[in-house]
Amino acid sequence: MSNHFDIELVLDARAAVGEGPVWDARENALWWIDITRQQLHRFDPRTASDVVLDLDQPVTALAPRKSGGFIAAVRDGFALLDTETGELRLIAAVEADDPQTRMNDGRCDPAGRFWAGTMASDAVKAPAVGSMYRLDAGGNVGKVFSGVSISNGVDWSPDGTVMYFIDTLRFSVDALRFDASTGTVGCRRSLISFPEQVDPLVGPDGMCVDSAGFLWVAFWGGSAVRRFTPDGELAGEVHLPVTHVTGTDRIHG
Ligand code: ZN
Repeated sequence: MSNHFDIELVLDARAAVGEGPVWDARENALWWIDITRQQLHRFDPRTASDVVLDLDQPVTALAPRKSGGFIAAVRDGFALLDTETGELRLIAAVEADDPQTRMNDGRCDPAGRFWAGTMASDAVKAPAVGSMYRLDAGGNVGKVFSGVSISNGVDWSPDGTVMYFIDTLRFSVDALRFDASTGTVGCRRSLISFPEQVDPLVGPDGMCVDSAGFLWVAFWGGSAVRRFTPDGELAGEVHLPVTHVTGTDRIHG
């Protein structure tokens, strides 16, 4: 079962590593980052303008805050990001003393905690040294699980009882039982696996869950986004005119 999707390139950005797309319903704008170029972008679909701010360290994931500005995963931990100036203020260090690892993808859970995981800069040579972290509203950070190679897409079922997580080098979308009131995870299983996948440079990357509970998984090196049912069945595929697809977000608000 495959649906047809019309695709339009809205910005020919030529990013080095374009990542972390976040739809901002307050401004009707798309924020995204170029990790290696250390840049924050704000794309306005009405005017097709893309405004770029230089950052003083790599930012790898973003989420808007109720009080304005963004919370960000950065190389050295969690930081507040002023989107007017591009200024980053580190509020919680994560593995900052480990030169081998950096933060990667992240997202807010249904209760507003911000989750992001780490990876080695060369995760193929140094697998399973990363971990998943949770930042709560009070600024406390907890390590939730370890043994992660490339921490990537994370999102929750609409009812908040399941956390979906992608470790790209496991070639799997995992489902973990989730308690939104405490922010704790339970039993973890592989929901969608890609056993045919043997090339470490091709795999599931970012992901989001739509309002029907379907998963939209971006494929790094795979020129596609695939849509899956909550049971893990393939429900559609969007072919894209680019090789390295890194992330998806829903228009919500
Ligand atoms: Zn990613």
